[in-house]
This record gives sequence, structure tokens and C-alpha cells, in this order.
Amino acid sequence: MTAPKPQPTPRPGVLDIAAYVPGKEHAPGVARVFKLSANETPLGPSPKAIEAFKAAAGQLERYPDGQATALRAAIGTTFRLNPANIMCGNGSDELLGLLCHTYLGPGDEGIVTEHGFLVYKIQITAAGATPVTVKEKDCRVDVDAILAAVTPKTKAVFIANPGNPTGTYVPVAEIRRLQASLPPQVLLVLDAAYAEYVRRNDYEAGLEIVSSCQNVVMTRTFSKVYGLAALRLGWLYAPEHIIDALDRVRGPFNISAPGIAAGAAAMADQGFIEQAVSFNAEWIGKLTQAFEALGLEVTPSVTNFVLIHFPDVEGKRAADADDFLTARGYILRAVRSYGFNNALRMSVGPEEANLGVIEALREFMGRG
Ligand SMILES: *Cc1c(COP(=O)(O)O)cnc(C)c1O
Repeated sequence: MTAPKPQPTPRPGVLDIAAYVPGKEHAPGVARVFKLSANETPLGPSPKAIEAFKAAAGQLERYPDGQATALRAAIGTTFRLNPANIMCGNGSDELLGLLCHTYLGPGDEGIVTEHGFLVYKIQITAAGATPVTVKEKDCRVDVDAILAAVTPKTKAVFIANPGNPTGTYVPVAEIRRLQASLPPQVLLVLDAAYAEYVRRNDYEAGLEIVSSCQNVVMTRTFSKVYGLAALRLGWLYAPEHIIDALDRVRGPFNISAPGIAAGAAAMADQGFIEQAVSFNAEWIGKLTQAFEALGLEVTPSVTNFVLIHFPDVEGKRAADADDFLTARGYILRAVRSYGFNNALRMSVGPEEANLGVIEALREFMGRG
């Protein structure tokens, strides 16, 4: 018997992480597949972004601009922000990780909500800190539950607003109340990945609150309505002291040159975004109505996806619907890992897919 050879071991916490499992992409044996499981836009990116991406192919031997100046300038122009308060990342996923690795460590707690985005928990744990999960109320973030969970160890609070996979939102007055009640040394992270889709007077993505507070950060993405998920582009808006800290930790060339070029062009083409938002609003309404007419419960959504709850009846559960839809080429997202055992999340797709899912669920529910 020889003792096992010592081997490198990850830091405490790393092996506690349940790795992120993306939604499925394939339906074996089905000729035509519609992937409606990742909240990607059916409209693609602005043609101007594709053009800029192609033009960047001529200089692939050069390092990108490590400050992503052109991209930060384009974002600043669109939202009337000082580019000094903007940082870009390799998807907002990278930025969420950076925030955790910069502000949390062993012994610290990060608050997340029951149905919140799984990346928060993963990155809090990866930083050696402890995620503390608080309940939501009817698929909505509950500000009082968050406040009740704050301890002297709390370093950060992560909220997806709007939420994924719920599609609900927290009104700006509630976000303000949360900020005002949190100790000023606790970082409040507002993940506004779906902000562009929201058409509500009482919603604010975080621009105003970040501008007036020293402990709030808003993250955004090019992966959803901007149609650039493949490029991995996100950005955050934060007070200067936070940008300064994150800038020390991030990779010096974390955004690619084609990403900077395509992102800046996409940001400048706001006409394209408005059309995409209108297309989405129309289908969110139609899908919600159609599914409710079939007797399914749909959580009211302000995003580009709907959370569909299935009856707790043999043969009619979410897992059955998932199989039924997959066999017909419609891939939705199972959301058990988000705390929904009997629901599926469907992204708004092209018209043909949306109508196809309505038809298929009509058959599934025996309303054909
Ligand atoms: C899709 C999504 C993001 C975007 O992540 P990227 O890394 O920018 O692609 C962030 N937060 C939530 C809640 C999302 O659903």
C-alpha cells in the first residue's frame, strides 16, 4: 500500500460549486429545431454590428484596446453617461465574477434570491464566500426578506431586475427603499440584462440610482436584445471607486477587438433595438394570452421570455410537456435548478416557432 501522492487542491468552496448547466440545444432525430431555451433574440444583431465585426477581421494580429474606449464611448453616448463610470466585460458573467472576487472573500456573505440567476451563487462560492438565499414572494424579489437576511458579514446583494427565469420586476421605489435601508458598505448589484424589454413607468434599470449612490452597480449585456451572445459582451455602470478596484483585477484585454467594434456599432443603432423591443412586446402578449387560454398559468413577464406553470396532473407536468415539445423540435428551458419543479421557460422566438409552440401545447393540453 502506497499513500496517495499529494496533488494540487482547489481553494475551499470551489468543489462545493454545482457547475452551471446551460439549457439543452438539440432534439435528437428532429429535422427542424427551434432553440427557445437561452433567451436569445430571434432577430439577430443589427446588420451594422455584423459589418463592423467583419471589418475587424483585417487586424487580428493586434491586441485590442484594453480600455475598450470606442465601446464605452458608444454606451456613454446612448445613455448619457460618463465613460469613466463604465467598464466592459466578457459577458456580464465576467463582471459578476469580478465583483465577487473583488469584494467578497472567506467569512463574507452574499445575498441572492430564491429564483435568482445561478451565476451569482457560483461566483460568490468561487470567491470563498457564502451565498445566503432569501425567499421570493409570488415569483417576485422581496425587499423585506433581503433586509431581514443582512448580517455584519453581508458584503453584497445580487438582484436580477427583471428576474430570470421569473420575468417579473422590482419597481424603482422598492429598489430605492432597499438601497436606503442597506448598510452603506454593502454592495448592491442590479443585474439588468433584460432592461431594454421593460415597458413600465415604475421601472428603472439602475442608471439613476448608481449616479446618486456609492454602493450600487448596474450590469447590462449585449447577449439579449442586442443579439451578440456569441461575442460575449457586457458592461457595468458604477461609481468611480468601484471601477478603480475592478480595473486592478480584470484581465487587461478582456474584450476582443471584433467585440469592441461590433458592440459599438450595435449600440449606435438604437432604431434596430426599438424594432426588436416592439416585436417582442407583441409576442409576449400573444403567448401569455394563448397559454392562459389553454388553462396554463403564466407568470406576467416584462422580458423576452415567459415562465409557464403546468398542472400537477399525471402526464401533464412540465417534464411531460418538455418531452412533447422537444419531439416536435421546440426546445424550452427546464427550470428545476431555479426552484421551479413544474414549469418551463420559453424565449420569444420567430413567429413560426411561437405559433408552433402554441399549437403543440394546445394538443398537449387536449384542447386540439
Ligand atoms: C442572460 C443573462 C445575463 C447575460 O449574461 P452574459 O454573460 O452577458 O451573456 C445576465 N444576467 C441574467 C439574469 C441573464 O439572464
